[in-house]
Amino acid sequence: MNPATFEYHRAGSVDEAIGLLGRFAAEGTEAKLLAGGHSLLPVMKLRLAEPAHLIDLSGATDADLRGVRLDGSTITVGALTTHRDLERDATLRERCPLLPQQAGRVGDRQVRARGTFGGTLAHADPAADYPAGVLALGVEIVARGPGGERTIAADDFFVAFLTTALAPDEVLTEVRIPVTPARTGMEYQKLANQASGYAVVGVAAVVTVGADGTCEAVRIGVTGAGDHAARAVTAEAALVGGPLDASTVAAACASADEGIDLLDDLHASADYRRRIVRGLSARAVLAAAGRATA
Ligand SMILES: Cc1cc2nc3c(=O)[nH]c(=O)nc-3n(C[C@H](O)[C@H](O)[C@H](O)COP(=O)(O)OP(=O)(O)OC[C@H]3O[C@@H](n4cnc5c(N)ncnc54)[C@H](O)[C@@H]3O)c2cc1C
Repeated sequence: MNPATFEYHRAGSVDEAIGLLGRFAAEGTEAKLLAGGHSLLPVMKLRLAEPAHLIDLSGATDADLRGVRLDGSTITVGALTTHRDLERDATLRERCPLLPQQAGRVGDRQVRARGTFGGTLAHADPAADYPAGVLALGVEIVARGPGGERTIAADDFFVAFLTTALAPDEVLTEVRIPVTPARTGMEYQKLANQASGYAVVGVAAVVTVGADGTCEAVRIGVTGAGDHAARAVTAEAALVGGPLDASTVAAACASADEGIDLLDDLHASADYRRRIVRGLSARAVLAAAGRATA
């Protein structure tokens, strides 16, 4: 199906995009930002979204919108960084390999060449990969709107199905990732839908191992299981301070689905998702712990 008629606008900067969003809101017409178009255009073709205006951000020249920068204890990733560039980035591969690992498993080559990090986060598809990673990494998401810039903790960002804490007149500009301490490992495990590549369930874990081999800190992000990505906080609490052997980790991760209202749809039943969340959580934690001490 073709999308409904819309007007196309090319924003030369984030400020111009914010100005256009404000203008169309004041006129009472719906406007959407366009980044890689690999989520928005499919939903427009299905007529699940019919914005009157598309504001294309891809030509915006703001320097902070693209690429990866390491500043002291923070790695900053621009919102328009494509999945492919994220997968190949040397700084991330060395300091935060979780995101390149996830990027390499997004869709197919065409999707990775066009789709963007910021677009994925802003779209908040319940089966998207990065939401699990940004929750496990404890990132800050930077949004700019008419009132200036603000940061949103990853824990507060994913609110509901296709819904984030971004206001309609805000642009997601960058993501700030804390550099992890020594003896920290990270891992993403995904059961992919064979047709699309999206996560039936995906689990990201970031684990810091103490000098005595016990779990000093852990964050687990789960995607695909509920209508939005969430942390497995009960499993995290059960892991901290304990040994990181297979049976202890499996026992702790038996609560990884707690607090998640599990989806039950044509891709997987709620009961199947429960078992996959638990199993992939244990695998992700063990692999991350192994990397932390390798
Ligand atoms: C065949 C196929 C397979 C896919 N497989 C996967 C997969 O396995 N895993 C996965 O995670 N994803 C998958 N995707 C989705 C893909 O990763 C998209 O690139 C991504 O979800 C959206 O990024 P985009 O840049 O294309 O955003 P767009 O489609 O341009 O925009 C998506 C939404 O975000 C908003 N938006 C975009 N950028 C910003 C911004 N900077 N600030 C505020 N709002 C913004 C838009 O207004 C729109 O509402 C797949 C897509 C396709 C078509």
